[in-house]
Amino acid sequence: MADYDLAVIGGGINGAGIARDAAGRGLRVLIVEQSDLASGTSSASTKLIHGGLRYLEHGAFKLVREALIEREVLLKLAPHIIAPLRFVLPPNPGMRSSFILRVGLFIYDHLGGRKILPATKTLDLTHHEVGVPLKRRYRFGFQYSDCAVDDARLVVLNAIGAAERGAVIRTRTRCVRAERTDTWRLVLNERGHRDVVTARVLVNAAGPWVGEVSETVVRTPGPSPIRLVKGSHIVVKKLFDHDNAYIFQNSDRRIVFAIPYQRDFTLIGTTDQDFKGDPASVGPSTEEINYLCDVSNEYFRKSITPLDVVWAYAGVRSLYDDGAAKPEDATRDYHFTLDQPEREAPLLTVYGGKITTYRRLAEDAMAKLAHFFAASAPWTAHAPLPGGDIILGDIEALIAQSRRKWPFLPEPMIRRLARAYGTRIEQVIGHVHSFEELGVCFGADLTAAEVRYLMANEWAQDVDDVLWRRSKLGLRFSPQERDALANFMADASKNKAAE
Ligand code: FAD
Repeated sequence: MADYDLAVIGGGINGAGIARDAAGRGLRVLIVEQSDLASGTSSASTKLIHGGLRYLEHGAFKLVREALIEREVLLKLAPHIIAPLRFVLPPNPGMRSSFILRVGLFIYDHLGGRKILPATKTLDLTHHEVGVPLKRRYRFGFQYSDCAVDDARLVVLNAIGAAERGAVIRTRTRCVRAERTDTWRLVLNERGHRDVVTARVLVNAAGPWVGEVSETVVRTPGPSPIRLVKGSHIVVKKLFDHDNAYIFQNSDRRIVFAIPYQRDFTLIGTTDQDFKGDPASVGPSTEEINYLCDVSNEYFRKSITPLDVVWAYAGVRSLYDDGAAKPEDATRDYHFTLDQPEREAPLLTVYGGKITTYRRLAEDAMAKLAHFFAASAPWTAHAPLPGGDIILGDIEALIAQSRRKWPFLPEPMIRRLARAYGTRIEQVIGHVHSFEELGVCFGADLTAAEVRYLMANEWAQDVDDVLWRRSKLGLRFSPQERDALANFMADASKNKAAE
């Protein structure tokens, strides 16, 4: 008998989502991730759970409708890491007309799925706080709803959900060879140590590496046409004080978001550029950083330059190549191929997709494999993600309750922990009676207790896992604080290995 029913290559949102869904249907599941969970595209997104207003222009009504419906499904499943966000869209002369924008937003509001989120409004920007940071020429704007998500934590929560249903999650483990008979024989490399596992079905969810895995690991006949498109973001000290985001049009017809981020910052992105090369080495170019600063300066009174950028990141989408002329026009819909030669084990390959539609993608993946595994019903639409079982989804009530329980902890720390861990905040903090009992504080409000929790429960192995994917405290850490954390984690790993 094979070791696993289903093995997934790739610990991004799609791999983790498929693994959780499959494990919940009683299958024996393995994820192998060559680096850290969410180390690929799934931590480099714009961090929106959205229908994608822009895709209406391409007539992608089905995609937008499905994503709009999924927006509120996910909001209910993970109200700690997903939050409603209002977007302000100021019309700009010479770009899409107010009439077109109004029609687009009407469709966006009514296409389906909007039950909780408020509808679009027109705002007088000369008398509204969201108009204050903008240049005077923007006198009115539309305000509509979408949601923000902690993308990397969404991946980790899916991995936890999968593991709690029996899945095995192996990070820092690269699948270097997949040999097919009536089962798969996978050769894995975990930090130089090789081992072999077997699985009945293989899923290639390697995101931008999907083509490389097809060609060099699985060695199947050419994958579907793929288009790699790179997008970059910059983070600057906050440009405004309220909690709305902005969506700006640029003269090249692209749109750029400016989103309140991590309390003290503004996240600005994204660009769209065709990409060639190794997705692991992707980074924002000087040209892209300048572009994002220029668009920001077109709208905000406060001007920024590349010197104001405190953090920048880039990610690569692997899109199914539908032949669109421009990268921003290529379809964002997902696409599967199921390769199942007679008497040989099946291979499911995943292309494209959005963070927003990962749960639906996982359900569809399981439906594609339905003839192979005993029938099982979809279950994820009503099962909260770990920590998401918050009464009525009221995160503010959870924060208030946590403040009463741990009155000696600073309010911003409680807020951050409640948002990151939801109802599992208790497992992170435990039964302490003072801040000091949480152990050494490395910087910001990251304590030894939280780091130990992340290492024991969330596969955090090195400093970037903690500072950039399980949290975004990297924005607040000095190099010395980072070194101290790295030493602590190295010692903790050594002690664990010696046990
Ligand atoms: P990835 O997250 O890249 O995961 C693939 C994983 O496979 C990687 O972690 C990699 O290390 C691993 N891997 C590769 N080869 C191997 C191997 N041989 N062995 C083991 N592991 C391997 N979507 C939204 O809904 N909202 C947004 O706001 C949004 N913004 C975006 C902005 C940008 C700039 C980009 C690029 C995308 C955005 N998206 C957004 C889309 C979304 O981010 C992606 O669709 C999604 O993250 C893809 O996830 P994935 O799991 O397919 O790929």
